Amino acid sequence: MIQTASIRKSFDTAIIGGGILGLWAARHAIKRGEQTILIEKRHIGAGASGGFLGALMPHMPDNWNAKKQFQFDGLTSLPDAIAELEADTGHDCGYRRCGRIMPLTHDKLLPQVERRLAGAKTNWGDDFSMTLEAPAAYQNWLNSDIASNGIQHDTLAARVNPRAYVRALEAYMRPRCEVLEGGEVRGVNFQQHDGEVMLANGDSITAGKIIIANGWEAYPLLQPFFAELNDNAPIGRGVKGQAVLVEYEHADDLPIVYHDGSYVVPHKENRVAIGSTSVNDWSGKPDVFDPEDMDFYRRAIELVPALENAPIIERWSGVRPRNTLKGRGTSPWFGPIPAYENHVALIGGFKITLGVAHLAERFV
Ligand SMILES: Cc1cc2nc3c(=O)[nH]c(=O)nc-3n(C[C@H](O)[C@H](O)[C@H](O)COP(=O)(O)OP(=O)(O)OC[C@H]3O[C@@H](n4cnc5c(N)ncnc54)[C@H](O)[C@@H]3O)c2cc1C
Repeated sequence: MIQTASIRKSFDTAIIGGGILGLWAARHAIKRGEQTILIEKRHIGAGASGGFLGALMPHMPDNWNAKKQFQFDGLTSLPDAIAELEADTGHDCGYRRCGRIMPLTHDKLLPQVERRLAGAKTNWGDDFSMTLEAPAAYQNWLNSDIASNGIQHDTLAARVNPRAYVRALEAYMRPRCEVLEGGEVRGVNFQQHDGEVMLANGDSITAGKIIIANGWEAYPLLQPFFAELNDNAPIGRGVKGQAVLVEYEHADDLPIVYHDGSYVVPHKENRVAIGSTSVNDWSGKPDVFDPEDMDFYRRAIELVPALENAPIIERWSGVRPRNTLKGRGTSPWFGPIPAYENHVALIGGFKITLGVAHLAERFV
C-alpha cells in the first residue's frame, strides 16, 4: 500500500464549522487581516444554519439580565451588520424588522403582560415598544378566537432568511480565506499560544487561534476541556427540529406569530416558514424529515387559518446545539476554552442564534 505523507499547514486562525457562527468568525478574522482557514465537514450551511425559519425573537423585556442585554445588543446591531455585509457582497439576506404578535389565551396572563410592557419601556428604550392590542387587531392573520384576551405585540422582533444570510457570508469569505469543505476535524490539541487541528484524513493544521464552531457536533471536541467545570456531566447534546415552508401570497408586511412553541414567520417572495419541533431522543440522519411529526404545523394552522390551503413547498429538519454546561441552558455559548484562553468556542443555541451570531466579534 502506498502511503502519502500527511500535510501540515499553518494559519493565524483556524475555524471549525461552516455554519452561521463559523462564517461570522471568518468575516471578523479576515477583516482583521488574519490568514484564515475554515474547515467544514460537509458543505457551507449544511447544519442548523441552513434552514428557513429565521425568526429573531427577543426575550421578554421584564426581569432584565445580562443574557437579555446581550441578545438586545445583537438584535439592535444586526441591521447595520447585515447592511454592511449586503453592501460588501451584493447579496440580500432577507432581513426585515417585522415585529411579533402573541395571542393571550387567558386573562390570567394580563398581569404578566403588564410587567412586560413596563419592562419594554425601561429596557428597550424609545425605538422599540411592546403593546397590548385587541383580539381582532390582525384579523386576517391571527385567529382572534385564540387571542381571546388580546394580543401582545412587539416591534423589536425581526426575521432573516437563514440560507440567504449564509450565502452572503460565504460570498464574503470564499475569495478571502482558505476553505476546506469535506474536511472533518477529529481532534484539537491546544497550546497556550497556538494549537493543532487534526483532520480525519491524517493532515493537521496549526493556528495561533482555533475557533470551534461546529454546532452540536462540537461537544465531543470540547468535552475534555469543560468536563471538570461541569462535574464530568455531558456539556451538550443535539436536539432535532423540523419546519415547513409554505407558499402564501402576502405583501411582506405581516408580523411573526408565536404561540406555545409554534412559529409562523413571513418571508419575502410569498413564503411563510412554520416551525418547529424539539426532539431530544432522535437517532439516524439529522436531515431526514419525519412525516409523522407534524403537530407543530397543525397548531400553526389553528393560529393562522389563512395558511390552511397554502401548499407546502419544502420540509426541513436540522439539529441545533443544546448546551448543558452549568448555567447556560438553551442560550448560545460564546467564550474562551478554559486554560487555553487564546482558543474559543462559539456554539449556537435555540431560537436566537441568528440574531446574535455577528456578536462573535466580541470573543474572537
Ligand atoms: C428546526 C430549527 C429551527 C430553528 N429556528 C431558529 C430560528 O428561527 N432563529 C434562530 O435564531 N435560530 C433557530 N434555530 C437555531 C439555529 O439554527 C442554530 O442555533 C444555529 O444555526 C447554529 O449555528 P452553528 O453555526 O452553531 O451550527 P451549524 O449551522 O449546525 O454549523 C455547524 C457546521 O459544522 C460542521 N461540522 C460538524 N462537525 C464537524 C467537524 N468535525 N469538522 C468540521 N466541520 C464540522 C457541520 O457540517 C455544520 O455545517 C433553529 C434550529 C432548528 C434545528
